[in-house]
Amino acid sequence: MKINLISDTVTKPTPGMLKAMFAAEVGDDVFKEDPSVNALEKKVAELFHKDVALFFPSGTMANQAAIKLHTQPADQLICDKYAHVYNYEGGGISFNSGVSCKLVDGERGMMTAKQVEEAINPPDFYHSPLTTLVSIENTTNKGGGACWDFEELKKIQTVCKSNRLGYHLDGARLWNAMLAKNETPQQYGELFDTISVCFSKGLGCPVGSVLVGNKEIMQKAIRVRKILGGGMRQAGYLAAAASYALEHHVDRLAEDHNKAQEIGKVLRQLLFIKKVEPIETNIIIFEINETLVSTENFLEKLAANNVFIIGMGQGKLRIVTHLDYTDEMHVAFLSILKKI
Ligand SMILES: *Cc1c(COP(=O)(O)O)cnc(C)c1O
Repeated sequence: MKINLISDTVTKPTPGMLKAMFAAEVGDDVFKEDPSVNALEKKVAELFHKDVALFFPSGTMANQAAIKLHTQPADQLICDKYAHVYNYEGGGISFNSGVSCKLVDGERGMMTAKQVEEAINPPDFYHSPLTTLVSIENTTNKGGGACWDFEELKKIQTVCKSNRLGYHLDGARLWNAMLAKNETPQQYGELFDTISVCFSKGLGCPVGSVLVGNKEIMQKAIRVRKILGGGMRQAGYLAAAASYALEHHVDRLAEDHNKAQEIGKVLRQLLFIKKVEPIETNIIIFEINETLVSTENFLEKLAANNVFIIGMGQGKLRIVTHLDYTDEMHVAFLSILKKI
């Protein structure tokens, strides 16, 4: 039994999801004639109380399109130093939008409103790039699945409004955050100008993200998606998977969160573990005490037991629980950990 805890992207469609995909009514979505895509977009727009939702092949493309919509070349956006848009999207912010990042030294991927305010370049000081966008990530990936304090997000919204900055949310794992903090899509829709959400992470779809926003900002979204190569034809098979996941895979995220807590408990009891970061959702980030066992050796031992996890650099290791990490695997993994 292979136990893959590298990411929540390793899941495969469930039989129920596959059935929904097979049964999907499809058309050419580039002509907006795919009923399954249209239905998904309508549903997600309504969930977030936004005018428009647009289906994308990846979360990266949805974020990159959003950044393009909010900025002009030579502008600057503000994000945390851990941000996915900065670290893990291949330099797309500069490639696609000609925009630079002002990195904020936040806590587990989260900044304060004060830090954001201080990072804004004075708009009349033409020597500096013009700040036009703030990008937030919830939950934070590199920050270990941490959830933002909603009040801080509101304060940042106020900063954005009074400085006329766009406010984007990379919500690849927003489903996890909303579940953990008992928040609603509507609350997030009221806060942010644009939000990207992923269906290929916790929700278990093979592919798919959606970007939501109101009419004005989303006007050019479909053109930007086309330019980035994201116009898809009979994408309804994929949208059907996403609609199925919305119905069947959101509430069960609680199981992933519980399992993560239980893994954390065992890790904290192990002598050779130096530190386990707080666990709020489905991501566990921890460090090995290298004087007792090397990180490499630990990974090798896990692999010898058919368990796979990933390094995050700087001695940090990451475990992510997900839909395909079964109860049986969980029991097996905990006992493997205790024996190492
Ligand atoms: C995974 C992820 C994305 C998007 O990734 P894709 O693989 O392109 O779908 C964006 N932001 C965060 C925080 C992520 O974890």
